[in-house]
Parts: sequence; C-alpha cells; structure tokens
Amino acid sequence: MKKISILGSTGSIGRQTLDVVSQHPEKFSVVGLAAGSNIELLKKQILKFSPRAVSVQNEETASALVSLIKPCNTQIFHGLEGVEQIAVLSEADLVVSAMVGASGLRPTLAAARAGKDIALANKESLVIAGEILIGEVQKRGTKLLPIDSEHSALFQALECGKRNHVKRLILTASGGPFLNTPQDQLEDVSVEVALNHPTWKMGKKITIDSATLMNKGFEVIEAKWLFGFEPDQISVWIHPQSIVHSMVEYIDGSVISQMGKPDMRIPIAFAISYPERISMNTNPVVPESFGELSFQEVDYSQFPSLSLAFDALREGGTMPSVMNGANEVAVSAFLSGQMKFTGIINTVKKVMDLHKTQPANTLDAVLESDLWARNTAQSLIRS
Ligand code: MG
Repeated sequence: MKKISILGSTGSIGRQTLDVVSQHPEKFSVVGLAAGSNIELLKKQILKFSPRAVSVQNEETASALVSLIKPCNTQIFHGLEGVEQIAVLSEADLVVSAMVGASGLRPTLAAARAGKDIALANKESLVIAGEILIGEVQKRGTKLLPIDSEHSALFQALECGKRNHVKRLILTASGGPFLNTPQDQLEDVSVEVALNHPTWKMGKKITIDSATLMNKGFEVIEAKWLFGFEPDQISVWIHPQSIVHSMVEYIDGSVISQMGKPDMRIPIAFAISYPERISMNTNPVVPESFGELSFQEVDYSQFPSLSLAFDALREGGTMPSVMNGANEVAVSAFLSGQMKFTGIINTVKKVMDLHKTQPANTLDAVLESDLWARNTAQSLIRS
C-alpha cells in the first residue's frame, strides 16, 4: 500500500489523481490533502478518502471546514505552514505536487527535504529553483517523477536506452488554440477563446500558458533539470493532435516515442505507481482514436515565448525565476481583463530585459528575484 499526500487536491491534477487512486483502493491510501478555498469539494474528498490531515487557505476557511464536517477525525491545518505540514506528513511515501505556480515551490522543497518521493505536476518549482530542488532530491536519493505528459513520455523513452546514447529530446507541443491565427489577430483574442484549448482540458493558468506556448518554454527548462540535458539537446516540434507526447532520438537514428490519448490520468497513474504499472479504465486504444499524426518545426517568430525560455535557460541563475514570476503576474492581468493577450509575452520580455541575473543556488536569491519580477511586471502593467 502506497501512502500518498496531494498538494492541490481540488485542482485539475489533484482531482484526476484522486480518480486514479479510487480505481485502485488496494494499492493506494490518501494520508494528506492540501487545498485552497474550495471546501465543499474538499469535504467530499475527506469523506471519501479519510486522510489523516488536510490543509486549507487560511484560518477562516479552516473553521468553515470544521463546521461542515462534524465529527471530524481529520486534522486541519491552514496557510502556507499548513501546506508544508501536509508535504512532510511522516506516514506519506509519495507527495503529489500539484499546486499552481510559484506557490508550489516551498511545499515541494519541504517534501524533498523530508525524503519523500515526489510526483511533480508543479513544473514552476523546477523552472524557479531547479538547481536547489534537484540538489535536495539527489542528496537523498529519492524519486522525482514527472506528471507532465511530455516529461512522462521522455522518462519512459529514456528507459529504453543509455543516456550517453541519447542525441536529443524532442518535446511535442499542440500549438494551442492560436496555432493558425495570424499575429495581427492575436491582440484582440478574448479570455474565453484563449481558455478553449483544442486537445487538453486543464486549469486556467496552464491553459493560458499553453496558448502563449510559455508552458512549452517552462517544459524545456523542466526537461533540462529532470533529465540533465543541455539546451542544445532539447527540440520542440508542433504536433497538433497531442497523441505523441514526446520523443527521444538516439545516436543511431532510432526515435522512441510514447503515445496515448490526451488524458492526464495516464501520466498520473504512471508517476504514482512507478516502477509498477496499473490498469486504467480509459477508453480502449483503437486506430481511429489516433487518426492522422502530423509534425512540424516550431516557428519561433510566431511563439516568442519559446525563444525567451531558451534564452532564460542558457542565461541560467535567477533568469528563469524572473521569467516565471513576470509570467504569473501577466497571465492573471490578462485573465482579469487588465491586459491584452499579446501583452503577456511583451511584459515577460520587458521584465527579463531589465533583470540583472544572479546565482540561483539559495532559496533566498530565488524568492528575491521572483518578488522583484512580480513587482516590476505589476508596475509595467499599471503604466
Ligand atoms: Mg505538458
């Protein structure tokens, strides 16, 4: 029986993780859940999975939850410290890190320091503090398993060969909803249209990141830290059908890919059951479900976010953290109607241009650059 804690249990990945868990009650038990303010859903999760402890946004939400569940055998924490309590629960074997954005960093680091295996959906942790997080994991010899579908694919394809035989990693990208939209029409796209992803159903923030392709930029950085390859060994191909989730090209010309329907429960199941595989009640794989597959070179002029991400990765230090912090502020400004769609990447670029890179080997340095990026992005958006 594997004991699991989930950080971000009411979000898209958290809910799908619990779906996978509920298909295999003989294999998994849930010991901790961290959520935000959706206590109605958290209540249902508590009643179904009986975790030992949960955490919610703040004291007020915690007392509202107490009055929803009486009597309650589950310990209730709150706030940032509460999430960290869930991340380090002594009985947990595996922590699913599925919070959104930079807020996932501290609890993910806490889980790593507590020697937990981690199934990582919160890619921002690696973008912001890849050196620190990987260092903690390597020091303890624990596992850091990707939930991101592309990295799950790379992980599986890398198990087919020796790493010194790898020529390059090829990340696939659907291209998002604006793959065929001319540049001059991007300025006026609405929030609603940007949130309508052609192949994946995901949370709001990652859906907007997918529309700008900043998500793919983050994934390039994530791939570098997870697998230890240099930027020149990482390529991105547009693959609109989202069936081939990524590929590894070996030096002999063999290309190993992992395929599957765009269903996050598949990489989630792989991550939480690794090194085993578990059966899943997904729709059967038939030829028609894969259809015709196409691939094309990514056009960097159409998606400047990808160039920015490669720049940030080559620059290293605090630059990726700054890119992420500026992006988080810009995406929420777009979602709340304060800024046009094209303003997102323009803002990120401006903030990166203004940044003087520092080493990113301490948490303080990383958090300081994150805060600087957020403040700088906010003042740019206001003006
Ligand atoms: Mg992905």
